Amino acid sequence: MALRLYNTMSSQVEEFHPLRDNEVRMYACGPTVYDYGHIGNFRTFLAVDILQRFLRQSGCKVQYVMNITDLDDKIIRNAARDGVSVQQYTAKYDKAFREDAAIIGIELPKLVRATEHISQMAEFVAKLIEKKVAYRTDEGSYYFRIASFPRYGQLSKKDFKGMLDGARVDLDEYDKDSARDFALWKAPKPGEASWNSSIGEGRPGWHLECSVMSMQELGESFDLHAGGEDLVFPHHENEIAQSESLTGKQFAHFWFHVRFLLVEGEKMSKSLGNFYTLRDLVLKGHKPSSIRYLLASVPYRTQLNFTFDGLQQAAVSVERLRNFRRRLTAGNFPPGSNPEMQSLAGETVERMRAALDDDLNTSQAQAAVFEMVRRANSALDSGLLKKDDAAPLLAALEKFDEIFAVVNDDDGPKMKQVFDWAPAEGRAEDISAELRDAVQSAQLSDADIEKKIAEMEAARKARNFKVSDALRAELTGASILIENTKEGARWRRK
Ligand code: AMP
Ligand code: ZN
Repeated sequence: MALRLYNTMSSQVEEFHPLRDNEVRMYACGPTVYDYGHIGNFRTFLAVDILQRFLRQSGCKVQYVMNITDLDDKIIRNAARDGVSVQQYTAKYDKAFREDAAIIGIELPKLVRATEHISQMAEFVAKLIEKKVAYRTDEGSYYFRIASFPRYGQLSKKDFKGMLDGARVDLDEYDKDSARDFALWKAPKPGEASWNSSIGEGRPGWHLECSVMSMQELGESFDLHAGGEDLVFPHHENEIAQSESLTGKQFAHFWFHVRFLLVEGEKMSKSLGNFYTLRDLVLKGHKPSSIRYLLASVPYRTQLNFTFDGLQQAAVSVERLRNFRRRLTAGNFPPGSNPEMQSLAGETVERMRAALDDDLNTSQAQAAVFEMVRRANSALDSGLLKKDDAAPLLAALEKFDEIFAVVNDDDGPKMKQVFDWAPAEGRAEDISAELRDAVQSAQLSDADIEKKIAEMEAARKARNFKVSDALRAELTGASILIENTKEGARWRRK
């Protein structure tokens, strides 16, 4: 395999080789299901989706596991506030996450949940106690002693030499500059959910969840562990300390971290009013394919500035790809083949592969496919694209889409899903006119549209303008834009 990836542990781009022949075992820290996922979350999940798709395209068998954090400080607090069980509280957002993943075209990995692994977590703590790297406090909490792990700080490149031995923190997320013994297991608090276990009553800390579930699913040593850049410290540092203290083996071989995105040049935050869930954007009428395309348009380690202009451009780009495919599948070309087009298809596949092999350079891969579309479209315009050229060009486009997954148009039904969800969530007022239009246009399938256009053209040729005008009005009313070209009518959805 020629894939080279940046490894946060070595701070270098390295050749990626799975530990077992051709079989990649990877784990990503998944969503904390206390709210709807935002576009930052989805940038990270999408980057890992692209990685796993590319590994499969490169011939690897991929075992990909993601946890659902259905148990952490925020969840416990919110469930207590609302007077419901943790399970009742998280079920809605757990389901929403799976729906959103489908909307944005993320192939779901094997999902594992913290609440289903409590007893294994307690056993893990007991073993750490045996190894004397963890201790119990009087009130029944358990902490990991970071002084027992000299490599602590290796992933985040932090130097903790002057740290206070025994200083403790029991929050799941805490100050990034201070190293403290972190909570493995927290004693119960009045009014908050807790579980009975072999080490007493309480609940696991967040860091422990990922160590236990990743090793249970993938083994003590596996190939790659992924997450957003905020997880490097303390979450992943803590996972390494507790896992490697237990097994004496290297935990994950590659650490893959995705850079946070900015929205219109600023950090996304509720107080700045630039905080968007995936559903917020669909309510505004943006297509899932445009969102996916934009989120994948910048390599995962580069800062992505998410803007509404960028989203419009992404929609245009996706439409160009879809139109290109329509032209190639519908066209009547002169017989034979054009060697230039044949080599263009082959070179494009090579360029896409080389770009993705280079630490998943998605923007270069997109550039390669657009170069192909530009050159092939110009050959089409001048009659130089021949019948036998369509198949290799379509195959190159298909290779691109195995990774980027935007060319097949299933935006309509996905937008309809958000349209149908909004009223029950009290968000009917947020449905934009654009979303309404899109949902309406989606009621006609591509085949229906093609059929009506053919009828319209036939009527026009027969000078039956009443019929052709009526058909055109019907299509326009359903938000289908029609353009007359030399090759006949071309259409797209608004
Ligand atoms: P959470 O649901 O907060 O646990 O986050 C789920 C994943 O999304 C984690 O891998 C986070 O690192 C990642 N994440 C959170 N915010 C952003 C952001 N603004 N940009 C990119 N990734 C993010
Ligand atoms: Zn995790």
